[in-house]
Amino acid sequence: MTDRWSVGDTGVMSVVSGIGRRTHLAAVGAPPRILDPQIDDELEELEEVSRGLEAHTLSGNTRKAYDKAWRSFESFCETHSLEPLPAHPESVRWYVAWMSTQVDEWGSPRFATATIRQYLAGVASRHVRDGYLDPTGHRAVADLVRGLAKLRAVRPKRKRPLLRDDVVRIIAAMDHDAYPDGVSAARDAAALWLGFAGAMRRSEAASLRLKSLELHPQDGIHVRVGASKADQAGELPDVVVLPFGSTPSTCAPCAVHRWIRLVGVAGIDDARARRRETMRQLYAYDLDVHVCGVEGAAGLISSADLASGAPLLRATYRNRKDARIHGDGISGDALHTMLARRMSEAGMDPSAYGFHSLRAGHVTQARRNGATTEEIMRAGRWSRAETVDVYDREFNPAARNSVMRLGL
Ligand SMILES: [Zn+2]
Repeated sequence: MTDRWSVGDTGVMSVVSGIGRRTHLAAVGAPPRILDPQIDDELEELEEVSRGLEAHTLSGNTRKAYDKAWRSFESFCETHSLEPLPAHPESVRWYVAWMSTQVDEWGSPRFATATIRQYLAGVASRHVRDGYLDPTGHRAVADLVRGLAKLRAVRPKRKRPLLRDDVVRIIAAMDHDAYPDGVSAARDAAALWLGFAGAMRRSEAASLRLKSLELHPQDGIHVRVGASKADQAGELPDVVVLPFGSTPSTCAPCAVHRWIRLVGVAGIDDARARRRETMRQLYAYDLDVHVCGVEGAAGLISSADLASGAPLLRATYRNRKDARIHGDGISGDALHTMLARRMSEAGMDPSAYGFHSLRAGHVTQARRNGATTEEIMRAGRWSRAETVDVYDREFNPAARNSVMRLGL
């Protein structure tokens, strides 16, 4: 491996571009002796000219972009204990792979292929400037970027929205009243409602704590979202409302009550008692009856069950006869995978969907039902109306469109 990646086989010599930074030239083999421009008046002038030219090789914007790229690469290297300067081509390959896996809140790539190329140019520029070989010139790096560009060319851009009836259908296909399947079904139903009713990003849903929730007698459940981010900025967290459903099958609070009840049961130490109580909870499942405390009835859980800072959505483990709920929170990636599996089980094709489809679905469904931009901004916790416009353009071309007022 080491041989294959030896810096020498990039075949790129940066000595020529490295003029003016003699101190680092030793890295690629020092010239026999350092020329002194003062031996000759003309050479001295030329040295000044060349320094002036160097300062103008990069425009201000390019320089800024390269600096940003370099900071990004350096922090990647620091995270993984890799040497950034000079970097090994293998490190650059990993960096490209890392950039290719970063996604924004839409599930779309955070780094476009053109951006990845620009970041690599920044890494290359720093190496060449300091007199090192350019590790991004390595064939394996170039191949990786080319492959990525090809792959991206056929990828759908946006995750499609899941509407209310889709969510109901996916949840209805789960085995809620079976042991042990009902345990993960309870968690997944709660997660789907958090994504759809709460319009939550997967990272937000995954980072919720039990104490992020508050039972509200009229509203259903209040969820404080983004507390960690808010801590940094010194702002209050956003509050998301999960309203009581008009029927139990569309009731997000019911799903949350059922799941947290099971989380409570998971705390029973004795395995047999725990299993017996879990089964009792699952076998009592009845989708025609509210368990969320709507209209003053007693819910499955009370405020005392929400006192803990433990994660709300947990990883679950099961085999044929036992189901366990871990203390650790579920990851955003696991939520994404869960949705794909649940959609397949409900007979739907999951390929164009991700967890973000629930948030996009909230916006789309609300708009179709007549919600204003202001209402959607509040639910989705957006500060700019333009963001809502993006969803409208993608999924609701008929919304706020005069074609709908032609009396056709
Ligand atoms: Zn309910």
